[in-house]
Amino acid sequence: MKVQFLGATETITGSRYLVSEGNLKILVDCGLFQGYKNLRLKNWHAFQVPPAEISAVLLTHAHLDHSGYLPRLRMNGFNGTIFSTPATKDLAAILLPDSGHLQEEEARFLNKHGTSKHAPALPLYTQKDATDTMPSFSTLGWREQKTLKSGDNELTFSFHPAGHLFGAASILISNGKKSIVFSGDLGRDNDPITQAPDFKEGADFVVIESTYGDRVHEQIEPEKVIAETILKTIARKGTVLIPSFAVGRAQQVLYYIHRLKKAGSIPDVPVFLNSPMADKANDVFCSHVEDSRINRSEAHAICDGVRTVASVEESVELNLNKDPKVIIAASGMATGGRVLHHLKSLAPDAKNTILFVGYQAGGTRGDAIVRGAKEIKIHGQYWPVLSEVIQLDTMSAHTDSIGLINWLRGQKKRPMEVFVTHGEASSADNLRRKIEETFPGVRASVPTFGECVNLD
Ligand SMILES: [Zn+2]
Repeated sequence: MKVQFLGATETITGSRYLVSEGNLKILVDCGLFQGYKNLRLKNWHAFQVPPAEISAVLLTHAHLDHSGYLPRLRMNGFNGTIFSTPATKDLAAILLPDSGHLQEEEARFLNKHGTSKHAPALPLYTQKDATDTMPSFSTLGWREQKTLKSGDNELTFSFHPAGHLFGAASILISNGKKSIVFSGDLGRDNDPITQAPDFKEGADFVVIESTYGDRVHEQIEPEKVIAETILKTIARKGTVLIPSFAVGRAQQVLYYIHRLKKAGSIPDVPVFLNSPMADKANDVFCSHVEDSRINRSEAHAICDGVRTVASVEESVELNLNKDPKVIIAASGMATGGRVLHHLKSLAPDAKNTILFVGYQAGGTRGDAIVRGAKEIKIHGQYWPVLSEVIQLDTMSAHTDSIGLINWLRGQKKRPMEVFVTHGEASSADNLRRKIEETFPGVRASVPTFGECVNLD
């Protein structure tokens, strides 16, 4: 059995790992490279193995940096099955077509403004390419075993809860002699909604993520910050605007607000969810509630307690409503989406609050606002920022360096070697060092792009 690292090496995007046993080739995750241009360009390179030779893709979870290359792989000849948990499949059915749509829009924009070196600019894949990928999915329950064969070669795999996002899994693969586990993205033990990661079996080899391999999360109660923010804003008759990622984070925020209302800690202020994608993600969340920590009735109470904003017209009308309220809208870093209309309307008034609930990447509007920009450019015009701005960056869906080490410590079997991926170089190297210090005799390394390791 061999593993080859085809992405997420010294970076956090483009998760792609090829596991092969003789001529049986399976790909673990099939992610998009995102962020800096030199990374994004990698999505256009020919895949390192002819996609037609790959029998199956096993998906840890639906985030695009793990799944977003699937339509392209299929367009280039992949004709196998995509295995995932049921919730991952349902989220992918929302995220992949949206990704195709955004890429079509970007290509249209480049063509219109003549800024592409390629004439005409093409999308990596279209919305239709993404929709056409969905019938290739096949789902598997937690710890259910599936064996793939090619001639005499066999690989057996199973999914194990990883926390992080509904349906997110760690994947254990074995050839009967040796085994390897891919952590996927690991959530926090104390996440309010997603279950704690749960993989105790252990394996001979481990591939572990290291997003926060060099950090320990601050112990700030997000619920308290959200309560304080809502209370002081409605006291001055303002609106709280929460830019949020639609999938995962929006449901977390809704849950906190639901709990605060139920406990009587905040009044029954109207909450509007203005994101069609978050609305669809709510449905996935409610239909897979058994994967979460909360019960069915509570999950429905969370989704029912919110007013959804169906059309763009309704979204514009919401800005005319001057009553105190909470609006949750995408995108989380205010780079696009319906949140922009609300920012134009709400940022120039000191009685309102903009509450950021996620990491703001450098160069985004969200980053400029939390750094104290006095005005922001939206739709070609400058708008003053006079509202209060609060950043709550302790709601990460990734565990920290302590959680990563604990995940390894909880496994019954000591691995021979741990490969540290899915982290910036310093983060990955820090975790590598910590693993070798904590588990004497265990080798740890940070693989480079394209590196292939024989596991037999
Ligand atoms: Zn993820």
